[in-house]
Amino acid sequence: MIDTHCHLIDPQFRKDLDEVLKRALKNGINKIVNAGYDVKTSQAAVEMGKEITWLLPAVGIHPNETAEQLIKEMSDIEKILKQEKVIAIGETGLDYYRDRSPRDAQQELFRKHIQSARIYSLPLLIHTRNSIDDTIGILKEEDYHCGVFHCYSGTLDQANIILDMGFYLGFGGILTFSKRIRDIFERLPINRIVLETDAPFLAPAGHRGERNEPYYIIETLNTAANILNVQPDHLEEIFDRNAKALFSL
Ligand SMILES: [Zn+2]
Repeated sequence: MIDTHCHLIDPQFRKDLDEVLKRALKNGINKIVNAGYDVKTSQAAVEMGKEITWLLPAVGIHPNETAEQLIKEMSDIEKILKQEKVIAIGETGLDYYRDRSPRDAQQELFRKHIQSARIYSLPLLIHTRNSIDDTIGILKEEDYHCGVFHCYSGTLDQANIILDMGFYLGFGGILTFSKRIRDIFERLPINRIVLETDAPFLAPAGHRGERNEPYYIIETLNTAANILNVQPDHLEEIFDRNAKALFSL
């Protein structure tokens, strides 16, 4: 099974990454999209992927990391893209919740990610928080239609717009504890959904407040199977097929 969004380059995994990866493999997680969130972690994700080939690197600058000067750092991301093979652009997007940097700077940086995605024909790993409409607006203006809205938390109407545009929706631990998200999930076409952990963040029910890790994706899968009243194995196959299509695997 594929974890389509994870940050194994996070310092929280520094001490016991080997054990984390062993637990993942033991539980059938055999591919992980390992997303950088700034230049340093993007480079680290690329290096990690050379050593451990089932950890698929994505490079980008998370909107929480954005400040005006970080737009300059995008040239370092572009340098990585020129030299290395990556599976996606991200984590990128807009975050108006934390609002750590001016919205126009975030938007400019997001557009730069979209332009890189276009040059290299790569999917985007999109983060949104209190910003879905602006994110949709920018993607429409840029006319880009490939990627995933990770850890989806918007409304059903917004989800349908996003699906119509050609994007996938990613669901993670929140599905296990949010009734609102379950209600939306239930109404979506299953062939446009992928699963993720966003580890080390957003651990599923039963592990809340702890560090999240890739094998906990099984709990999200089981929740999804419960909601849809189907066998987890069957669902896993569908989600993996979707992920393979999304990332051209
Ligand atoms: Zn993330």
